[in-house]
Amino acid sequence: MRTDNFASRHIGIRQENLQHMFKTVEVEDMEQLIYETIPDDIKLQGPLQLSPAMEEHEFLGHIQELSKKNKVFKSYIGLGYHECITPSVILRNILENPGWYTAYTPYQAEIAQGRLEALLNFQTMVCDLTGMELANASLLDESTAAAEAMTMLFDVRSRDQKKNGVLKFFVSEEVLPQTLSLLQTRSKPLGIQLEVGDHEKFTFGSDFYGVLLQYPGKYGQVHEYSGFAEKAQAAGIKIAVAADILSLVLLTPPGAFGADVVVGTTQRFGIPLGYGGPHAAFFATREAYKRSIPGRIIGVTRDVDDKPALRMALQTREQHIKRDKATSNICTAQVLLAVMAGMYAVYHGPKGLTTIANKVHASAVTLVDHLEKLGVYQINTGYFDTIAVKTNAKKIRVVAENKEVNFLYVDEETVSIAVNETTSLKDLAQIISIFAEALGKDSIAPPTALASKVAVPESTNRTSPFLENNIFNAFHSETELMRYIKKLERKDLALNHSMISLGSCTMKLNAASEMLPLSWAQWGNIHPFVPVEQAKGYQIVLKELEKDLTAITGFAGTSLQPNSGAQGEYAGLMTIRAYHESRGEGHRNICIIPASAHGTNPASAVMAGMQVVVTKTDEKGNIDVQDLEEKVSLHSDKLAALMVTYPSTHGVFESSIRYVTQMIHEHGGQVYMDGANMNAQVGLTNPATIGADVCHLNLHKTFAIPHGGGGPGVGPICVAEQLLPFLPGNPVIKTGGEKAISAISSAPWGSALACLISYGYIKMLGESGLTQSTKIAILNANYIKNRLRGGFNVLYTGENGRAAHEMIIDCRPFKQNGIEVTDIAKRLMDYGFHAPTVSFPVAGTLMIEPTESESLAELDRFCDAMLSIRQEIDEAKTPNNVLKNAPHTLDMVTSDTWDFPYTREKAAFPLSYIRENKFWPSVRRVDDAYGDRNLICTCAPIQAYAEI
Ligand SMILES: *Cc1c(COP(=O)(O)O)cnc(C)c1O
Repeated sequence: MRTDNFASRHIGIRQENLQHMFKTVEVEDMEQLIYETIPDDIKLQGPLQLSPAMEEHEFLGHIQELSKKNKVFKSYIGLGYHECITPSVILRNILENPGWYTAYTPYQAEIAQGRLEALLNFQTMVCDLTGMELANASLLDESTAAAEAMTMLFDVRSRDQKKNGVLKFFVSEEVLPQTLSLLQTRSKPLGIQLEVGDHEKFTFGSDFYGVLLQYPGKYGQVHEYSGFAEKAQAAGIKIAVAADILSLVLLTPPGAFGADVVVGTTQRFGIPLGYGGPHAAFFATREAYKRSIPGRIIGVTRDVDDKPALRMALQTREQHIKRDKATSNICTAQVLLAVMAGMYAVYHGPKGLTTIANKVHASAVTLVDHLEKLGVYQINTGYFDTIAVKTNAKKIRVVAENKEVNFLYVDEETVSIAVNETTSLKDLAQIISIFAEALGKDSIAPPTALASKVAVPESTNRTSPFLENNIFNAFHSETELMRYIKKLERKDLALNHSMISLGSCTMKLNAASEMLPLSWAQWGNIHPFVPVEQAKGYQIVLKELEKDLTAITGFAGTSLQPNSGAQGEYAGLMTIRAYHESRGEGHRNICIIPASAHGTNPASAVMAGMQVVVTKTDEKGNIDVQDLEEKVSLHSDKLAALMVTYPSTHGVFESSIRYVTQMIHEHGGQVYMDGANMNAQVGLTNPATIGADVCHLNLHKTFAIPHGGGGPGVGPICVAEQLLPFLPGNPVIKTGGEKAISAISSAPWGSALACLISYGYIKMLGESGLTQSTKIAILNANYIKNRLRGGFNVLYTGENGRAAHEMIIDCRPFKQNGIEVTDIAKRLMDYGFHAPTVSFPVAGTLMIEPTESESLAELDRFCDAMLSIRQEIDEAKTPNNVLKNAPHTLDMVTSDTWDFPYTREKAAFPLSYIRENKFWPSVRRVDDAYGDRNLICTCAPIQAYAEI
């Protein structure tokens, strides 16, 4: 290991540590460890075909060169994406701050109160602006959120509707094209029948269960929907509205005219366009649907001292519990972007947002006034920020592109222009001069001030206040916001404090050099629907990344469109479905899934219209091959797919894997490999070699995209030759296979901006760095396993007693002492550590995954902490013990009263290393059940909430 290359920065283990580690692991060398870990018949024969590793400074120069190939035009394309201003205080203190971007999903609430509060702010903002009662803490993008609305309303149909088989969902022709495409994808497997049309001609038939409206419409028309809503309600038809978040500052909130669900994106609240993402979508609904709402909800509860505390609410709704009964597979969402958008609202407050919305609206009105002087007329009868004009689109386009300006060319005689927060008088003058020049008119005097006229119909004017809570009215100076962000950050344990050894989640280094380009306008400020020639830098990066991921998985091609692992699962299964259909075998609908699979697997299979058959695991944690043989034979005619995680969720390279995949193929099925554990494979084996046909990768696990407190994620799928033609497309920009399935996410390349991170990761590590990372990840896991030996039992290992890159330790025996796995998780906080994965895939266990980025010293600290806790378990004679009372807060330890049968020192500083870098949990153990019984999901005062 050299110290002057990126690999030596990314990997935490030093050359001089290796002998000691080999000794602990009881091997001669790395070769032996890998030999004993990975079955021989699946080992790669040669090195991966990747370009040589770049050094860090070299990469930064390279990515800057590529950025110059992107042409940053002024984009007035709209369609759900708008240029906006990211306040620098938010950019620097959140997006560029590992304290925020390296945190994990807030499952351990006591050390996550900061991001939980930021997300509660986001939910409050969404509820206030939409006029709804309940919002989740983000979804992936506007179109998937709209699809979730369609399926949730399907799920909550009335008993009569279900009995009568009511299957129709009406979609207004005003809906964004990418949303329509996604609804097509998602409706088909569930048997939902879409009908697209003019909402003013809709007949409200009893064969419809729901509708989706766009507000304002895709080319800017603000419709007055209250009459429509009344009729829909009378007919028992539920209403979903896709709304523009900024327009809601001025427009009647959909909640006020009877919407049941409101969705949209918060991109324009300070999030860069990023060629399509990542951005946080929102989903708001009525309290009545609280048990059906997709995604995560943050709620208020109390800790054991009755102090207010936050945590994720109503988790029994999630696919982790509901599995094949779940109606949504959403797991990773867009937390970091939701935090940023929420902070944008905190920074601007209701007054600031109103000023911004008024300015944007006035810019549109000013533009209309001036275009009229050129004889160009606007056709929307009411609009907020987007206008549609009748003109010669071809002529306009030529001049506009020449001047580096993009409009939306609706048809030959219609151009749509969406102005935004950044649009200045100068920009307006430029647009006006483009029209004058293109149409051969004399130029007119440019606007000198914004119009004061209002072009929103009075009937749709917002009258209700919003963001009245103190949080949105307190931090309007940069100093105040900077300190507020810091205050929240300090409550959260992230990777910048200590190892987060979450099994299955691969919390590795998210290197600064990988992250830096995300802040550059040449990457940030590109609309996803610009002509591809304007995004050449992106096209190079995305194509290269696809090529590299294809090489790493051994497959034939890759789609970067899915914007989470679960979306990848769904996309992969949909390509399998399309493949079977293309061969006249559309009846194949059985998906076999091992009992130990991640909850998203069965949920995705059901969404893809498949029927889940669960296959057992044997007492060693492997797929029970005999049971599988029986199930495969039984369902041979209808077998669509096997979904298998490899190495398994038990942390083992199962040696039967090739036999298993062969068996599936012999019965006409395809093999889907869940690639969440790819960190154990890269460079050593791959999905193609084990016999899979398609896999998703979690770029936010294996390929260094930070977890962001629960997102963003990128979940590309890599596929074998026969599935290539079906890779997902996009209705606006051509992408995907020859027989592409319709859209999986809003944007053609999903969360393109985040892909830069994985691109950097692969380019800087190269073949040898990637392979070395895998080996060290396996070594680190086995090192922990052997160090904990005697204290903790590892549940499953491979044939030679080796773990893969993670292992499950059994905490069930400690129940004898009254100690639950949760007690260990909470006690780890006192030691400055985030718990490993709790109770997945086996209840009562911890799954530990150290990754290659941790140093030997950190691995040792963690092992010391675990072994010290093990001793505490033995000492726990009464229920009033140091584990049950964990975590211990500063408040407790400094209180004048101390009633516990152990010392304060033992409570807070059980090992000496802790003194140097103590992390204080900000609340004591939170009460989940109380919060679920008394659901509060906004930061409105409890009093105010009770009055609603
Ligand atoms: C993380 C994970 C998923 C889901 O990925 P998301 O990006 O959270 O949607 C699926 N399977 C396994 C085994 C995982 O660990």
